[in-house]
Amino acid sequence: MISHPFSQLKIKSRMRGLARMMGWVRDTDYRLLNHHLLRMQEKQDLDALLAEIAHCLAAMLDYRLFAFVIRDDTGVDVWIDPSMFRDAFSRIVAEDLGLDSDADIRFMGPTDTEGLQQRIARENLDVRSFEEKDFTAHLYLATGRKLLPYHDEILMTLLSGLRAALVNHVRIRRLEGAVARDGLTGCYNRREFDLQLRRQLATAKRHGNPFSLIFFDLDHFKKVNDLHGHLAGDAVLRTVAREVGQRIRTGDLLCRYGGEEFAILLPETEGQRAADLAERLRSALAGFEVDAGKGLKLRVTASFGVATASGSTDAETLLAQADAMLYRAKEEGRNRVAF
Ligand code: GH3
Ligand code: MG
Ligand code: MG
Repeated sequence: MISHPFSQLKIKSRMRGLARMMGWVRDTDYRLLNHHLLRMQEKQDLDALLAEIAHCLAAMLDYRLFAFVIRDDTGVDVWIDPSMFRDAFSRIVAEDLGLDSDADIRFMGPTDTEGLQQRIARENLDVRSFEEKDFTAHLYLATGRKLLPYHDEILMTLLSGLRAALVNHVRIRRLEGAVARDGLTGCYNRREFDLQLRRQLATAKRHGNPFSLIFFDLDHFKKVNDLHGHLAGDAVLRTVAREVGQRIRTGDLLCRYGGEEFAILLPETEGQRAADLAERLRSALAGFEVDAGKGLKLRVTASFGVATASGSTDAETLLAQADAMLYRAKEEGRNRVAF
């Protein structure tokens, strides 16, 4: 039957129709790609840029999972959609990049992690990577449909567009990071503290979450400078910041409030838990000798003030409360926590 000239004609014409349709789908995809590439260039921040890429990939490839990983000397950042794969993906990234633990991964982008976490296997993920001078990037994709050869071309085009945009975004992010940090201790600085306090307090209020603040100030620190010199004092400040930094959670924010006074912002933390943490920090500091450089070991203590926000507390009130508690801890003899 197939040899019948009419049938052959029919098949040929059907195939032509199919090819035309495929061509049409491809043209549509390329038009879509162009549209998204243009929009990518308008994006002001990394989150918005990656959201645009996600849109583009969702429209063309109908992905099950799209994730983007950036690693630079400050750590590993991950943008992932949907967030239900967050836990499983953290483990995959930790393994792929040879990280000691997945606890150091920072997440950007969509943040809702409510709902059940789903598993995803490494072999279902296609990964493309590139390396720049200051960072490496990896795009992970699990698609819901079979990839055609031209999809590969689309992905490569998208990736090179992303690469060009990323170089600038990563540079800006590093500059912003440097602006937010205190030069001596590497903690967040006062400017960043003021910014984050207001931002985090607003978030806590919106979600009805607890929020606490710890202030601490080194005791008789003037003596350290007077007895051992300013450089030894500086070394103590660096060690204290490092030791405290290691004892708080990733989401907590340690800031140098000024001089030898520090503040810790504690999202999603009740007052009593903040006070318990302050007590652990106080006892840890008092318990060891602080490296003051050049083999000099010193003992230092600090006094702590703890405050917690209730529904209507504003930033100024919370600051005043923590400050008043710190003052009380000093008054009552130092090396203690007041709450
Ligand atoms: P108190 O227990 O009441 O807090 O006593 P204190 O001596 O710690 O407090 P005071 O405010 O009298 O002195 C703070 C000292 O901290 C004085 C200042 O020289 C020192 N200090 C502040 N910033 C720095 C710094 O960046 N490096 C060094 N080495 N010292 C600093
Ligand atoms: Mg002091
Ligand atoms: Mg002080």
